[in-house]
Amino acid sequence: MPAISRPRGTDDLLPERFRAMRRVSDLGIEVAQRFGYRQLDTPIFEASELFVRGVGDTTDVVRREMYTFSDRSGRSLTLRPEATAPVLRAFSESQLRQLPPPLRLSYSGPMFRYDRPGKGRYRQFHQFGVEAIGEADPELDAEVIAVAWGWLQELGLGGISLQINSIGDGECRPAYREALLEHFSAHLAALPELDQERLRRNPLRILDSKEEGTEALLASAPRTEDFLCPPCREAFQRVQAALRAYAIPFEVNSRLVRGLDYYVRTTFEVWHEDLKGAQNALFGGGRYDGLAELLGYPPAPGVGFAAGLERVVMLAPPGPGLELPCLVVCSVQPVAVAAAIDASQRLRRDGLTVICDVGQRSLKGKMRWAERSGAEAVALLGEEEVLGRRVTLRRLSTGEQLGLRLDQVADQVRVWQRASDFGEGPD
Ligand code: AMP
Repeated sequence: MPAISRPRGTDDLLPERFRAMRRVSDLGIEVAQRFGYRQLDTPIFEASELFVRGVGDTTDVVRREMYTFSDRSGRSLTLRPEATAPVLRAFSESQLRQLPPPLRLSYSGPMFRYDRPGKGRYRQFHQFGVEAIGEADPELDAEVIAVAWGWLQELGLGGISLQINSIGDGECRPAYREALLEHFSAHLAALPELDQERLRRNPLRILDSKEEGTEALLASAPRTEDFLCPPCREAFQRVQAALRAYAIPFEVNSRLVRGLDYYVRTTFEVWHEDLKGAQNALFGGGRYDGLAELLGYPPAPGVGFAAGLERVVMLAPPGPGLELPCLVVCSVQPVAVAAAIDASQRLRRDGLTVICDVGQRSLKGKMRWAERSGAEAVALLGEEEVLGRRVTLRRLSTGEQLGLRLDQVADQVRVWQRASDFGEGPD
């Protein structure tokens, strides 16, 4: 029988990578917490309608990339491709609505998209993000950017640039959409098929086209900023003023539209110089003031971002390595098995990371295993030690050996560990 392997586009987070992802995610949650954002989580699956309505049925995410299935009672459910619509649903359905706005929320967890797997692109990936819900102040747009920016700074991630744009609102966007349609319709034959379809379904999406034939036409395309109505223009100025106050450098990029339909006004992305083409965004976000109503809830403006953890981990300087066990407790003879288990438990209570090796292997085999484990020391328990209620403690890097009472072991291991941390190894 052929062996079963993991589904295409998924990855196992083996201990080293799991730790790296966890560190990056925890730091994001912590930075967000300092801005007053509290963590929540929502179900991995939701009613499909939430994404069809909330993300928009003209988007790639909904048209091609959703993991949708029927459950046993025939309901259509979808593995969440993003978290903004679920977070807004959770907010709207709960007592969070009663709290004074804006509500500052953060999340971190797996998302699912039936994307073409490739470098940095998975079918199950992880996002960390924040949402500020309940107020339309443009300064909040700058605040969520500041959370993301602060997080990347603390991770020591260089080579990043912030791109911002305003795509207007229900007042001014229709005229812009018309102007775009007019511009591209005149050159329809020159457009690649994918972009002809975009033009039909959602003309704004053509702006983030990476198709060759479209690039040239984009240079002369109408620009969002020339169509903004006065309130949108003022809001965009306020976002920029607040970003300057945060001392965050940015570029206004009038081609930045974001793939999801519910954005109004501010959109932004953070790019990294090492990410190329369609995958250059570390994260993106924007304002989604009309989304709550689209989902059938009372109005609740909001702004947020989502960052791909896989991409951030790939680019961030590595964190500390895996923690190694500091002590291996070995039974030397079968009579010492219970005493070795008991000693291990005691030493764990003393705060050490202890691996208990009471297997039937030879002492030589156990010592070799302990050396390879990276442990600082081995505690040996044989008949004599059991009778004398002592252990033989051996430092693996030097071979130094001491006979100690159990209550002396933890302190001694720590002394050795500190010495090793300062580079004091074998002579
Ligand atoms: P989006 O929700 O499409 O704006 O994506 C936000 C961020 O999530 C992107 O900038 C990526 O870093 C990450 N992301 C989106 N799709 C994937 C994917 N299929 N695999 C890995 N990361 C992804």
